[in-house]
Amino acid sequence: MRIIDLRSDTVTRPSEAMRRVMAAAEVGDDVYGEDPTVNRLQEVGAELTGQQAALFVPSGTQSNLLALLSHCRRGDEYIVGQQAHCYRYEGGGGAVFGSIQPQPIDHCADGSLDLEQVARMIKPDDHHFARTRLLCLENTHHGKVLSLDYQRRTADFCRDRGLKLHLDGARLANAAVAGGHAPAAIGQLYDSVSLCLSKGLGAPVGSLLCGSRDFIAEAHRWRKVCGGGMRQAGILAAAGLFALEHHVERLAEDHVNARRLAEGLGEIAALRVDPATVQSNMVFVDCPAERQQPLMEHLREQGILVGGYGQLRFVTHLDVLPADIERVITACRRFFSS
Ligand SMILES: *Cc1c(COP(=O)(O)O)cnc(C)c1O
Repeated sequence: MRIIDLRSDTVTRPSEAMRRVMAAAEVGDDVYGEDPTVNRLQEVGAELTGQQAALFVPSGTQSNLLALLSHCRRGDEYIVGQQAHCYRYEGGGGAVFGSIQPQPIDHCADGSLDLEQVARMIKPDDHHFARTRLLCLENTHHGKVLSLDYQRRTADFCRDRGLKLHLDGARLANAAVAGGHAPAAIGQLYDSVSLCLSKGLGAPVGSLLCGSRDFIAEAHRWRKVCGGGMRQAGILAAAGLFALEHHVERLAEDHVNARRLAEGLGEIAALRVDPATVQSNMVFVDCPAERQQPLMEHLREQGILVGGYGQLRFVTHLDVLPADIERVITACRRFFSS
């Protein structure tokens, strides 16, 4: 039975073509800066995100952590969304390793942060308070795409107030494709950008942290401190290069699949899907609480895996085909009609 794994876009496996370029990658010791494939990936990543430089890191979590450590010092503060990955889902790394205080605020329904509320959270220059240094946005956030206009206004806002601006762009490529922009049109608005190669882009491992040359020099130091210096990492970087070359434009297919899934599930009376939230590759579905576990079990028996954290979560990616979407819709329909 073909398994359809919709729990996350992290579950993709490297294709044969990707494995071939990995096996053939030219490598060197990247801690000496001598891995030509890593160096090339970093150049391509910087250009892709509209930044001067980039650093290849093992994970998105480490990428966000290095951004916090590089922008902020002990006793500084970053303003961030309550549900943002770099606040909620990264073990409090900024506090653990950097003595950096988070100031979380609620997200707006569209995934943005209200700039008036951000303004109220900026601490006065007074020894009672932590120093507010940084604002972090996430795009996409739970599959929602921030508008370019909002991101421009946020960049202006931060410049006026002397704040740095970081983008957790784990799914920046999804945001760019969904909005019809080049990733650089988004990335260039930020002081730093983190991009995951291991989500919808389909590489097995790795993220890129992008920013100015000075910022990346600082992040490079912190990467070493965090144990993120890797040696012949070109094997992994080759997968990242392959992903950037072949798997960006095709994200549009994942978005079409997600919309089709939302439409199909929306026709099932017991399920509720808000089509407005399906802007990229994620579908969140409300299901009566007592039916959720039995539904997930029913799907699992048919080789369909989905996420369930309050709402059901279906994430499309390059290992999910249009025919799989129809199979999922049919399986859900059967469950509720039996
Ligand atoms: C997955 C994810 C990360 C972290 O990436 P890992 O490689 O899993 O550490 C950061 N931010 C967002 C928004 C993510 O979805």
